[in-house]
Amino acid sequence: MITLKSAQEIAFMRQAGRIVAETLQELGKRISPGVTTGELNKFAEDFIKEAGGVPAFLNYQGFPASICASVNNEVVHGIPGLRILENGDIISIDVGAFYHGYCGDSACTFPVGEISAEAERLLAVTKKSLEMGIEKAVSGNRIGDIGAAIQTFVEDNGFSVVRAFVGHGIGQEMHEAPQVPNFGRPGYGPRLEPGMTLAIEPMVNAGTYDVAIMPNKWTVVTKDGSLSAHFEHSILVTGGQPEILTRLS
Ligand code: MG
Ligand code: MG
Repeated sequence: MITLKSAQEIAFMRQAGRIVAETLQELGKRISPGVTTGELNKFAEDFIKEAGGVPAFLNYQGFPASICASVNNEVVHGIPGLRILENGDIISIDVGAFYHGYCGDSACTFPVGEISAEAERLLAVTKKSLEMGIEKAVSGNRIGDIGAAIQTFVEDNGFSVVRAFVGHGIGQEMHEAPQVPNFGRPGYGPRLEPGMTLAIEPMVNAGTYDVAIMPNKWTVVTKDGSLSAHFEHSILVTGGQPEILTRLS
């Protein structure tokens, strides 16, 4: 069932979204060669708690950390730890937080030092595809309009969208109905209505869209070893333009 959020619920989701956005912004300042992913996780966990939030990922289905940190060929669900970031890496950081029982969820891929031109292009295309998906999240459109916009733009640029993981509704649960695939057909899927809150999150591979899961049972990697990027926002469908809950204005 797709829930429509009340004004009070939306107010809590704005706060959750702000905490997530600020956490990502602060993490971005701390990403550089020599930093470990575990240090970033520790910072984020403390920051979320000091802001009055609850880390949404910690212990979620047994996940052992407060952020996902996925480097280079890792797509999503990377477990932060002792890995030291190196010049030329890209790192996708996913952050989730609850505030008064409501969730915000956002992700961003950051460059570490100087990255290749191809990696730059992957980040730019993935970020732009998220914006194009969000533009379609308007009342009266359907879920398939979002995925189709993302997929078309990504594939026109020679990259691929991951099929095995998708975006989602969000609210009292981090993952609610409906699923929000990053691929699809315009005019298909559930119809969007004001009050729906969605996490839209293109995962884009430089090579093919196939992924594999590492022996730690969490970390998702590209099957062909190519780079992968991930950008995500939680948004509110309104009567007009979508409101981005995890962007600092
Ligand atoms: Mg996320
Ligand atoms: Mg998500």
